[in-house]
Amino acid sequence: MSEDRIEFEFVQTNVYRRRPCTLCGGATDKVDILTEARWPCGNILTEALGGVLRVCESCLKAGNIDERLELRAQKLEAQAVGMRYLIGQLKMPSFEDWLAMSERANIAWCAQDETGSRDVYKKVMEDDAFYHVWRQNAKDRLESGEEPRCDSNPEDLDLPF
Ligand SMILES: [Zn+2]
Repeated sequence: MSEDRIEFEFVQTNVYRRRPCTLCGGATDKVDILTEARWPCGNILTEALGGVLRVCESCLKAGNIDERLELRAQKLEAQAVGMRYLIGQLKMPSFEDWLAMSERANIAWCAQDETGSRDVYKKVMEDDAFYHVWRQNAKDRLESGEEPRCDSNPEDLDLPF
């Protein structure tokens, strides 16, 4: 075993959120003491900035650190094989398609809010003619300066017109 082993220490934090664990790929709880080590390549392993290796409480409690490292390495290798298999295999909508669907969902929320009907939401999402009527209503309201009849802020609607 190397004399230059990477030494972990306790790091106090007052930002209570889950943080990625280098060993298991899981996360810490929302704790106030983290177990971390600085290592220049740490961010490659946790996808976090700052070159940090971190061990969650579960890994620390289990204690079999090297076994966990090996298991995690095997999982990452399997994930890499799976990722490479997907190259050239994915067919997906464009970003513009996503924007249009997002706008439609905003209109549907307003329609549901105005009518109090979940069925209206579904119909806006599924029926193109019905959607265009509601979209035109929203456009007319915004252009006339009228408050939209839903809780959404006009800026939040993110409408292209
Ligand atoms: Zn862990």
